[in-house]
Amino acid sequence: SHLNINPNVKLLKVATDPTFVPFESQTINGNLEGFDIDLMNAIAKVAKFAVEFESLPFDGMISSLQAHRVDAAISGITITAQRLKTISFSRPYFKAGLAIAVRQDNQDIKDFNSLKGKKIAVQIGSTGADFAKTIPNAKISTFNSGPDFFQDLLNGHVDAVVSDAFATLYAIKNGKLKGIKVVENLLTEEYYGIATPKNSPHLDAINKGIATLLSNGTYKQIYQKWFNA
Ligand code: GLN
Repeated sequence: SHLNINPNVKLLKVATDPTFVPFESQTINGNLEGFDIDLMNAIAKVAKFAVEFESLPFDGMISSLQAHRVDAAISGITITAQRLKTISFSRPYFKAGLAIAVRQDNQDIKDFNSLKGKKIAVQIGSTGADFAKTIPNAKISTFNSGPDFFQDLLNGHVDAVVSDAFATLYAIKNGKLKGIKVVENLLTEEYYGIATPKNSPHLDAINKGIATLLSNGTYKQIYQKWFNA
């Protein structure tokens, strides 16, 4: 119930796809957690708006923003020129990039050039999927979420996965991706931003919120919590 929320406080509906550890995932109790979740809540606190998260598949997020079904989306979304044609982004809040992952015993895939003609798994609608299209003669399979394409790599249906480096490295480090290694890290330079409908009136508050968290140490705290760096 929102009855106890001050009616002068704006309530922003924020989309996220909680299949992207450690940025957004769902606990056993169904609660959302992760770097992006903490960041969005912290921005709301300093910018004085309330947040209601809505879980949506990554692939449908941009069209939901275009249709104004949600006010914003935070989901490790890379700021790209293509996406900027139809939606807006906050200032960048995380430096990211793609990585190539293969099975531990793979000897022949070492870099971008050795992906030619290989079977590659990517997430539908992701920057990894766009990148894979540039690999000559690659056979690309698309999946709805991360856990599924890594399963296909492990069972030998594909030779490599092209996906966000931090999420992949985090899963390997935490033992969730046994038998997989990264052969090329930060293949691309990308920046995550909070997405909104085009020219959203909330962008200014979101950007000021990010700036405040960067200068008051909160951003660093959240970063250390999830990446213990
Ligand atoms: N950063 C990638 C993109 O924007 C993938 C993000 C994700 O899977 N949540 O396409």
